Amino acid sequence: MSKRFIVLLGPPGAGKGTQAKMISEKLDIPHISTGDILRESVKKDTPLSREVKQVMEKGELVSDSLLEQIIKERLNERDCDKGFLLDGYPRNLSQSETLKAILSEKNIFGDVVALEISVSDDEIVQRLKNRRSCPNCGMVYNLVSNPPKKDAICDNCGYQLVLRDDDKEETVRQRLLVYHQKTEPVIYFFEKFNKLLKVNGNGTPEKILEEVLEKLN
Ligand code: AMP
Repeated sequence: MSKRFIVLLGPPGAGKGTQAKMISEKLDIPHISTGDILRESVKKDTPLSREVKQVMEKGELVSDSLLEQIIKERLNERDCDKGFLLDGYPRNLSQSETLKAILSEKNIFGDVVALEISVSDDEIVQRLKNRRSCPNCGMVYNLVSNPPKKDAICDNCGYQLVLRDDDKEETVRQRLLVYHQKTEPVIYFFEKFNKLLKVNGNGTPEKILEEVLEKLN
């Protein structure tokens, strides 16, 4: 199968994480989530990580320069030779330009496809309030649409599930605001290069995956 270079776009709570996991398994490419990388890195207690943690808790964007460093390093890892799926990057126009430069240097920008999963703001607020995440293995559940088998316990590793700080309603509203102001232009950036595919994010994860794979082919 040809290599796949996918950029997943859509508001927080659109189901990007769930789709990313399913798509990357199906296509056998690494799932690169900048949110996951940042959450992992702020577990260490350093002055920089404390600063980054505060920015994330407020639902704001972490600095472009730090993200550039993170994404460059990650895309240079061997597993990305077979393709990748980016989830959470780029988040603004400046990051889009940076990504374009990095991928152009690798001669793969021409092969990139951006996949936008669209969902309304009201639906997102409802979804994220009910989202529970595993702080150990990163599995994500929804108390209504995809509950764990045992109350508040991760099916995968048995850890106690949590409501992520940035999934609290006030932070969700802030993240949506940031999304509309800063991240939505990224959609038009890829559209301009004729690289945009749109998928409706309402429906079961399996149904959405089906549409994604259809569109990718
Ligand atoms: P996510 O899990 O993708 O929703 O990311 C959680 C938080 O990590 C975001 O609200 C931002 O604070 C930060 N973050 C993740 N990716 C980026 C990025 N590309 N640029 C800046 N901040 C980011």
